[in-house]
Amino acid sequence: MTSTPATSFTHDQIRTYQAQPNSLADKIILVTGAGSGIGRVAALTYAQHGATVLLLGKTTSKLEEVYDEIEALGGPQPAILPLNLASASYTEMQQLENLISKEFGRLDGILHNAGILGELTPLEMYDIDTFAKVMQVNFTAVFMLTQALLPLVKAATSGSVVFTSSTVGTHPRAFWGAYALSKQGVEGMSDIFTQETQATTTLRFNCINPGGTRTNMRAHAFPGENPMSLKTPEDIMPGYLFFMSDDSIGVRGQVVALQPK
Ligand code: NAP
Repeated sequence: MTSTPATSFTHDQIRTYQAQPNSLADKIILVTGAGSGIGRVAALTYAQHGATVLLLGKTTSKLEEVYDEIEALGGPQPAILPLNLASASYTEMQQLENLISKEFGRLDGILHNAGILGELTPLEMYDIDTFAKVMQVNFTAVFMLTQALLPLVKAATSGSVVFTSSTVGTHPRAFWGAYALSKQGVEGMSDIFTQETQATTTLRFNCINPGGTRTNMRAHAFPGENPMSLKTPEDIMPGYLFFMSDDSIGVRGQVVALQPK
C-alpha cells in the first residue's frame, strides 16, 4: 500500500486513543449503517463527543431509535437519511449531497460502515445475485457515495473518510466469497483515493478493520461462537474516534486492525 506513515501515531496508539470529551464539537459526520451494530455505537459515540451525526441506513425505524438515543444523551440534534445502498441511484446520492450542503453547509467526516455478509460458500457455488448484491452494498455503493459527497468533504477544513474493511479483506480467505472481495476492493479504493488526493487536498482516507465484534453480522458468520467472548462495539470506539478527530489530520492511507491477533 502506498501511504504516508501515521504521523506520530502508531497503530497501537490509535487502538488505545483517548479522545477529549468535546473532540468532535462542531463536526458534521455521516455514518452509514447507523441503525444497528457497530454503526449505531459509532453514531452515539460521535454524538457524545459533540458531533452532529447524519444517520444513514436502510431501516428507518432503527435510525429513529438511534435518533432518540442521541437526543436522550443530550447530543447535538442528529438527522435521519434513509437510503437503501443496495438499490440507491447515483442521482439519489447527489440529491443527498445537495441536501447536506443546504441543511448543514459542510461535511467533515464519512464513516462507511454499512455492510452485508452474503454467503459463506466456495466461489464455485456462489450465487450470482447474492454476489452482485454484496458487491453493490459493500463496494460499489461505497464508491458512488464517496464520489457524490466528495465536494463536501473536500471543502471541509480537515475532511476524513473512513472505510470499513475486515481481516478477510486484508488476507482473502476461502469461503468468504464476495464479502472478502468487496473488502479487498474497499482497501484498494482507500489507497487510490489517498494517492489521487494527497498532493492537492487536506482530505484523508483510511480503513478500519474492526476485528471480531459482538454484532448480528458476526453471529451469522460464526453461529457456534460464544458472543460474550467478543469485544463489544463500545470496546473498539477509540479507533473510530481517532480517525474523525483532528488528531488524525495528516494520517492517510492506513489500514488499522483494531484487534490484531
Ligand atoms: P450489522 O450488525 O449487520 O450492521 C450492518 C449495518 O449495515 C446495519 O445497520 C444495516 O442496516 C446496514 N445495512 C445493511 N444493508 C444495507 C443497505 N442495503 N443499505 C443501507 N444500510 C445497510 O454489522 P456490523 O457487525 O455492525 O458491521 C459493521 C461493519 O463492520 C460492516 O462493514 C462489516 O463488514 C464490518 N465488520 C464487522 C465485523 C464484526 O465482527 N462485527 C468484523 C469485521 C468487519 P439494517 O439493519 O437497516 O439492514
